Amino acid sequence: MSLRLSEKAMSVKPSSTLAITAKAKEMKANGVDVVGFGAGEPDFNTPDNINEAAIDAINEGFTKYTPASGIVELKKAVCEKFEKFNHISYRPEQIVISNGGKHCLTNIFEAILNPGDEVIIPTPYWLSYPEIVKLSDGVPVFIRGERENGYKVTAEQIQAAITPNTKALILNTPSNPTGMIYTREELETIAKVVVEKDIYVVADEMYENLLYNGAEHVSIASLGEEIYKRTITCSGVAKGYAMTGWRIGYIGASAEIAKVMGSIQSHQTSNPNSIAQKAALEAIGGPQDTVEKMRLEFDERRKYMYERICNMPHVSTLEPQGAFYMFVDVTEACEKEYQGEKIETAARFADILINDYSVAVIPCADFGFPDHIRLSYAISVELIEKGLNRMEELLKSL
Ligand code: GLU
Repeated sequence: MSLRLSEKAMSVKPSSTLAITAKAKEMKANGVDVVGFGAGEPDFNTPDNINEAAIDAINEGFTKYTPASGIVELKKAVCEKFEKFNHISYRPEQIVISNGGKHCLTNIFEAILNPGDEVIIPTPYWLSYPEIVKLSDGVPVFIRGERENGYKVTAEQIQAAITPNTKALILNTPSNPTGMIYTREELETIAKVVVEKDIYVVADEMYENLLYNGAEHVSIASLGEEIYKRTITCSGVAKGYAMTGWRIGYIGASAEIAKVMGSIQSHQTSNPNSIAQKAALEAIGGPQDTVEKMRLEFDERRKYMYERICNMPHVSTLEPQGAFYMFVDVTEACEKEYQGEKIETAARFADILINDYSVAVIPCADFGFPDHIRLSYAISVELIEKGLNRMEELLKSL
């Protein structure tokens, strides 16, 4: 048979965060005592009040189609949350509820990109950004966040990367994979460039609830009328509420963009899952004490992991201020030999860890940094300790 598949689809790489996590889960199922620092997935159960809301939705027959872009009660709750937490004013017609953060991003880029439009992606980036941009016929343009600047990019770098074809900038704060956050001052200078050059900002704020050391989360859309008009703010319930499997994300944008995204979604998935929308309503509109409990627990794990990694040979890291990831520079370890062969790349380092030490980490070539690995601390301190002991054993042996 000589039939050929879509060139565009064939150019997409599978998600290595999900693949490594699946591998670790499979090893565990086969009886291997594996420690998974892979996917960013909280180990907590979804809080009871949220589960109850979903059970009630089923029992009350809330199991039919909903409006394509989401139920109005949830949109209103999202508006209130945007107002209170992010200091951004959106009306319900400016909100679209989708099936998780990735789906929000897919809809955003389908709504704003024409073939060949460029999207500036600061590196290191969450690995799905370039793939999602390419699927919408966009062209990713990478700029590098240097370690000296907390792996963040500057307004000058963004300005220098803008061409007549630039349509948007992706801005992810707190960042996956670095856990760094952009300060108000940094965002103000970036907003100035964005407004001057008249491009969109896709602000991915999925980790906004998870901040440490008194760090402040600032939404770029809150910084003035002009930047507000050009920003699509994206968040969801997966990380802050331990609801990864429920698949509910949402965006706030101009009514025009929201309308186009809603139309796209009406043909893709009809609507986000009705039961999960009710659960998300309870998450966003209900009591927030469980979020704080989880955040405090993540903070303990963060401090422990940071301290341990700082004391290990051949690796180094910066203290993260948000999310639940540690971005670890393994350049020096890659110079070392393991069983007579130079390690060379973070990918090989990660292979050794999983195959010989039963520790899953994410090598970050797919995040644009091939000499770094990412460790998630969304697992218990006991497991973190066990996994780090093994990693330390490897590093000391090099
Ligand atoms: N976003 C999480 C991560 O980076 C979950 C896996 C994925 O979607 O990539 O690990």
